[in-house]
Amino acid sequence: MDLNYSVEEQAFRAEVQEFLAQKLPKEMSDAIRVGRELGKEGHEKWHGILNDQGWLAPNWPKEFGGCEWNAVQRHIFEEECCRANAPRIVPFGLAMLAPVLQKFGSKEQQDHYLPRILSGEDWWCQGYSEPGAGSDLASLRTRAGIDGDDFVINGQKTWTTMAHDATHMFMLVRTDPGAPKKQQGISFLLAPMDQPGVDVRPIRTLAGEYEFCEVFFDNARTPCENLVGELNKGWTMAKALLSFERIFIGSPSLAQNALGQLESFARCRGAFDDPVFCDRFAQAALDVEDHAALYARFADQLKRGETLGADVSMLKIWVTECFQRITELMIEAAGPDGGTISPLQIGNVSVDVLASFYKARPTTIYGGSNEIQRNILSKAVLGLPG
Ligand SMILES: Cc1cc2nc3c(=O)[nH]c(=O)nc-3n(C[C@H](O)[C@H](O)[C@H](O)COP(=O)(O)OP(=O)(O)OC[C@H]3O[C@@H](n4cnc5c(N)ncnc54)[C@H](O)[C@@H]3O)c2cc1C
Repeated sequence: MDLNYSVEEQAFRAEVQEFLAQKLPKEMSDAIRVGRELGKEGHEKWHGILNDQGWLAPNWPKEFGGCEWNAVQRHIFEEECCRANAPRIVPFGLAMLAPVLQKFGSKEQQDHYLPRILSGEDWWCQGYSEPGAGSDLASLRTRAGIDGDDFVINGQKTWTTMAHDATHMFMLVRTDPGAPKKQQGISFLLAPMDQPGVDVRPIRTLAGEYEFCEVFFDNARTPCENLVGELNKGWTMAKALLSFERIFIGSPSLAQNALGQLESFARCRGAFDDPVFCDRFAQAALDVEDHAALYARFADQLKRGETLGADVSMLKIWVTECFQRITELMIEAAGPDGGTISPLQIGNVSVDVLASFYKARPTTIYGGSNEIQRNILSKAVLGLPG
């Protein structure tokens, strides 16, 4: 019984529960429960199921085909998805590019790209990082020059998640190398991946998966109409997109999911007989709850159409470090089996503790490392000297 929710909100929760019970494929929730990756095919399937239901884009305004849910509805939806082990959506098109197009894109770009993001026809990747331009993103060197009606792109991106599955990349390119400050002279482009001059080379991760890639551009082309916003003013869009990325990464579901896994696993293992474990579990559970309350505040700010401030970095730091602590506890609860490279079956609970541990490692790096987020908080929020 949800004593703090209105009758309408409880009815909404019941509707979400029924949808998940009926439409979430069992093989998908089983994969998420043990910490296995779904692959593009699995993500496309879940994307399609949510789209058919009209629930694919909780944050989008209705005029673009979104749900325009309020913070409570989104919280309920996320909580139930987490409880049911539903996959998270792939954010690049839906949660990162779309809000940028809605705010800065031309009418033609909105009309062309937004419906294709919803239908899953276009699958996006993020071309920001380069060798030598990660934390110091504004040092990026990939060039784009105008030739007739096209931009011609030369350079290299790296750590590009799912680039091998993507049909398009949104990317930052240098269009004015002579600009006085490195943040100036950068533009935000949309580019097709399937063309001569784009070479995608997957990188194998520690977990043995091919999750991200290096992408090389050798005279690749994209029409000038694929410039978002003004030429050489891409840094504004770049920063806006990063704040959308940080609220996506900062959502409680990463840590909530892991906490749920830890709880059932630890119960079967008898770990709650150990008072020290109980103490650490309680601390983790309270951290997850506190984080969810903070997240709801930021989500509400977005809903009111307000721009997120630098303090959104708190969410990313908190949830990723909490996620890591939970997966470390999971390894401890597994005892001597903590290093096993496959799901552990204990009673009717199956958890791949090592896969969860590996999954948590890069979260403090991607989306801007946590050290950089702390720098942002210290300068922009606390006003400490740089
Ligand atoms: C799993 C994963 C997926 C990714 N997916 C994408 C993607 O799809 N698209 C994309 O564009 N990028 C992606 N990235 C790249 C990610 O954004 C960068 O790795 C990140 O911004 C850090 O940059 P870097 O790797 O170049 O490290 P560096 O910038 O070289 O930093 C190295 C270390 O030094 C620290 N450091 C650097 N500068 C400072 C400073 N001023 N103060 C304190 N500490 C500092 C950093 O915190 C870090 O610990 C992904 C990364 C990972 C791990």
